[in-house]
Amino acid sequence: MKTLRLDTNEEDIRRAGEIIRDGGLVAFPTETVYGLGADALNEVAVRSVYEAKGRPSDNPMIVHIAEASDMDALVEGGSFMLPIYAKIAAKQLWPGPLTMVLRKDPSVPGVTTGGLDTVAIRMPMNETARRLIAAAGVPVAAPSANISGRPSPTTPYDVLEDMDGRIDAVIMGDQCDVGIESTVVDMTGETPVILRPGIITKEWLEAVLGCTVEYDKSLLMKPENEIDIRDVNGMDTNTVVNADADTPATADAEFKPRSPGMKYTHYSPKAKVRLIAGDNETFGRRVMELGVEAKRNGLNPAILEYGNDAKKAAHKLFADLRELDRQGYDIIFIRAIEEKGAGFSVMNRMLKSAGYDIVK
Ligand code: AMP
Ligand code: MG
Repeated sequence: MKTLRLDTNEEDIRRAGEIIRDGGLVAFPTETVYGLGADALNEVAVRSVYEAKGRPSDNPMIVHIAEASDMDALVEGGSFMLPIYAKIAAKQLWPGPLTMVLRKDPSVPGVTTGGLDTVAIRMPMNETARRLIAAAGVPVAAPSANISGRPSPTTPYDVLEDMDGRIDAVIMGDQCDVGIESTVVDMTGETPVILRPGIITKEWLEAVLGCTVEYDKSLLMKPENEIDIRDVNGMDTNTVVNADADTPATADAEFKPRSPGMKYTHYSPKAKVRLIAGDNETFGRRVMELGVEAKRNGLNPAILEYGNDAKKAAHKLFADLRELDRQGYDIIFIRAIEEKGAGFSVMNRMLKSAGYDIVK
């Protein structure tokens, strides 16, 4: 299949909308990451998204809409039946990097929602995204436009790296502002629950909604493979810790996350990733030791550091991981970021890209 490169002009957006309406796949920019869009109500089209991504089909997709009123046809009972905080969120945080999980209308196919009776909905802020969804005239199911398990794409070139020849078209838009995926909040219960942290933080949501918001338990659990510096010096640095995309990232086999996508290893570049925690001095010392060790093992090490600037880290992390892969590094040492506010969300991505390998 030849993948079309489309522009953001009227004619190309109209064409992209037609491709989606006809059951094809179009990658497009949003403010978070590039999405791989298909008609959310067309089962065959949605199945081809799983195929193009090599993604397990129990991993539900986010359905993107152009107007808040488009939500009515997707949720059970229409917006009339929504809990109050879902109404507030739709009014105040949309358009934006917030995804709401709500009870689904029967018209939304099970393939789109990974067989769940809920549907994840988002109205993105990015203008190109909204124009495309409007041009398609259907709700657009879109996961991130990467091969499953790889870092999410934040430029059209990242998309092409994974998807050239596998999808119908890519809209060649700008680099994404936010850089990490939307905050996913389950709005079906008494209390909103964050299933995936993003740039819209728990504190931000609580302030807007005027109620307590919880983190899903899975976000607070960390697999117990944190290792200390003594093990590191004795370890085989050729071991690849980043497992296949269909391997549960958590050590606990019994554990069932509420957001099915969370059990899969994510965001992994080809290079091995290790997180390093500690103050400036400790970080510098560890990176030196580990860098020397890596070189002795014939590996080419790289360093990523963002201080405690969570916004910058979010904006750059995936782009940097992909760039270091292109440059052929074998091992990437990332300085852990303070888990405060958006830093919590960035650390979530950093930990997963490192397969929870953190040097304390
Ligand atoms: P991505 O498609 O890569 O943007 O990831 C979408 C995220 O939203 C995944 O973590 C999914 O598990 C989550 N998600 C989508 N739909 C639902 C749903 N109905 N219930 C819970 N989580 C969902
Ligand atoms: Mg993804």
